[in-house]
Amino acid sequence: MNTSNEQAFQDKEDLKSLKDIGFNEEESKAILWDSLPNSMTHIWEMTREQIREKWPNADLSHLGMTLNDYQKFTDSTRSFPEKHAIVYPALGLSEEAGEVAGKVKKWLRGDTEKLDVDRVKKEMGDVLWYLASLATDLGITLEDVAQTNIEKLTKRKETGTLKGDGDDREIIPNINELRDFSGIHH
Ligand SMILES: [Mg+2]
Repeated sequence: MNTSNEQAFQDKEDLKSLKDIGFNEEESKAILWDSLPNSMTHIWEMTREQIREKWPNADLSHLGMTLNDYQKFTDSTRSFPEKHAIVYPALGLSEEAGEVAGKVKKWLRGDTEKLDVDRVKKEMGDVLWYLASLATDLGITLEDVAQTNIEKLTKRKETGTLKGDGDDREIIPNINELRDFSGIHH
């Protein structure tokens, strides 16, 4: 295979991949034409939101739902007064987390032989709804929340601090600073 054939082969693969993620033939060719010679690195690094923004007609539905798709859905089902933004979903999140715990607690008590996973799933959905609404009120995306959590836990895994307490436990304090009592007055 000579170089130009290899390039053509590569383009064909890219074209197929673009179709796989929901672009039609015309869009795929336009994107390929646009992005060459750096090929597809840019588009593969784009989020679905960015792809939708650039190519609004691309049908990405078969890829399933993203966290941000779900967050958008919650916008259309909000039913609390906007003056209670942040506080209402924060309270609801806690309430629904309690309902998850309640279902597990009753199973533990022996009310039912089996844990009703369907009912727990519904309560978990309520948790997710309030979590998404809280994120919206705070002006952040659910994907941002997930990504931040991935980064935090990855760091903890790397430093061997997955177990323990504290939000910033990966920051190990300098023992000499801890022994500096000069700022404490008795
Ligand atoms: Mg509930």
